Amino acid sequence: MSVLVLLDLKNGQLKKSSMELATLGRNISEKTGLPLTGAFFSETGPEANIFSGTGITKITRIIGLDSLKSPDFLLLHALNEFIQKNGVKIVLFSFDNLGKSLAPGLAAKMDAAFASGISQVEEISGNTWVVKKNIFSGKAFARYELQGEKIVISLIPNSIEPITVNSTAELSEFQPSPKVCGFQIKEIKKLSEGNMVPLPEAERVVSGGRGLKGPENWYLVEELAKELNATTACSRPVADMHWRPHHEHVGQTGITIRPNLYIAIGISGAIQHLAGVNGSKTIVVINNDKEAPFFKSADYGVVGDAFTVVPKFIDAIRKWKAQHQ
Ligand SMILES: Cc1cc2nc3c(=O)[nH]c(=O)nc-3n(C[C@H](O)[C@H](O)[C@H](O)COP(=O)(O)OP(=O)(O)OC[C@H]3O[C@@H](n4cnc5c(N)ncnc54)[C@H](O)[C@@H]3O)c2cc1C
Repeated sequence: MSVLVLLDLKNGQLKKSSMELATLGRNISEKTGLPLTGAFFSETGPEANIFSGTGITKITRIIGLDSLKSPDFLLLHALNEFIQKNGVKIVLFSFDNLGKSLAPGLAAKMDAAFASGISQVEEISGNTWVVKKNIFSGKAFARYELQGEKIVISLIPNSIEPITVNSTAELSEFQPSPKVCGFQIKEIKKLSEGNMVPLPEAERVVSGGRGLKGPENWYLVEELAKELNATTACSRPVADMHWRPHHEHVGQTGITIRPNLYIAIGISGAIQHLAGVNGSKTIVVINNDKEAPFFKSADYGVVGDAFTVVPKFIDAIRKWKAQHQ
């Protein structure tokens, strides 16, 4: 019997969301007395040292599959097989694309109690767990009681501080049984462009709204993001109008982010937008309407035309860099 954390890698490195899960996993392992283990999908083996500091000492690579390239149902089948063979009772996912695809199906296969998108595990008392989840666009939270010997939960990225500990991991491999699936993948679309950090993990985000008037003006967001080494995002109408791809849309119906810095350009600050960004440490708002609701949530605000303010901002950063780097 053990607690299993589903780890995920990007470019051969452990994602920040996995470090958050490991932190939660240690906590749960302490409270339940169950050993903490980890698993990840990867076609090729990374060095064990990327898992140092997670506090998870036994980690299994599920071989022959890749979390980005393999179809969800094969990942689910393989993970379930691993879990059944290893007597895992508790499984922790991040509430990201992988967790959203696999956690509900796995909970059903395990016949486990399930909560998705939680922000905290508040209490564990025997087989009764109390978990906390944001509701009403982050305006309130609810506590849910889960009952069962088996529990599956997914944790909203950036909801707990990842803490590293002194630890090293021992890697093993698990070969899932071969399955005849009878279909071929026709196309794989890359969700994040270039070397940008994915939104849920980005420390800096530059975001644009309808105030930018059209996709042809996105160079302002992109140039500012490039100077700050930030990831780009947008409001929902911008994605709905196909000015930007949907995977950039943040908010209640989009991605939830908690960067250190969020710069909102030409975004009004509707409650549904704020729901996905109000966990940001520092919010900078650029808007030509001094009554824009976003200013109420801003740490710094610039009342001005984005087409004047942003080029000056970019210029100032470049000058600063030239003097200091
Ligand atoms: C169920 C539901 C779910 C939703 N989910 C989401 C969600 O997840 N994410 C989301 O973003 N929205 C969501 N919405 C939509 C949300 O209510 C707002 O309509 C949306 O956020 C507004 O987008 P915006 O700020 O880009 O556009 P607008 O509201 O049109 O605001 C544009 C802003 O740009 C400013 N502006 C205009 N010109 C300039 C200029 N030249 N320089 C500087 N500023 C300028 C204006 O003053 C204005 O404040 C949802 C709505 C519903 C009903």
